[in-house]
Amino acid sequence: MSKSTFPNGTTATLSSSDRPPPIWIGDHIALHFLNSVAAPRGTQIEWIKTGQDFLTWMVAAQSLDLSEAKHLLSQFSARDFDQMAIDAIALREWFRGALTRVKISGVASLSSADIECLNKIMTHDAVYRHIESDAKGKGLRLITKRAWRTPGQVLAPLAIAMADLLCNFDLNLVRNCENPPCTMWFYDRTKGHRRRWCSQAVCGNRAKVAAFRDRQKQKNK
Ligand SMILES: [Zn+2]
Repeated sequence: MSKSTFPNGTTATLSSSDRPPPIWIGDHIALHFLNSVAAPRGTQIEWIKTGQDFLTWMVAAQSLDLSEAKHLLSQFSARDFDQMAIDAIALREWFRGALTRVKISGVASLSSADIECLNKIMTHDAVYRHIESDAKGKGLRLITKRAWRTPGQVLAPLAIAMADLLCNFDLNLVRNCENPPCTMWFYDRTKGHRRRWCSQAVCGNRAKVAAFRDRQKQKNK
């Protein structure tokens, strides 16, 4: 666990212990983000309740690396992080609605206001190129870094992930788990594109057990 301190003295940890770790079944960062609230075993779990949760989730999702997270902690206040979490959840739920519409009616169902929502957040992204020594210290490598100037920038990697999904991926392969109470989304990267469940072990097995019970009921009628 990595511990950091907000400028106002609040201690922030980069992990949370009051709920299970997030479930990474989305196979795309934008879908992982939708699954940051889910009910994998019937009870809804919200992984982004606070600014600290948001930062923890971003690091766990590899949308931020640890050094970026520590830099952000030194740059912004706890209140900034809590506002980021509120804005992140608003973005997440907007995207859930937009993606649901796209799944039903195609990308034409996205309004110019929808597109502008992502475009606006992406204008805040501030990337620059940076030369550093390679891991062995013998050569140089050119990498891309982000300059973090405003709290609003922290949503940019998520908006980019959403835009990437909408623009660069086959949206027929974006699916909701077929288990009705399950709200998990995933990108079907299987060879035959027949993935039906967030997890075969959880929802797949539940569906099998339910189908077995139905067959038994029919037999006993
Ligand atoms: Zn499921």
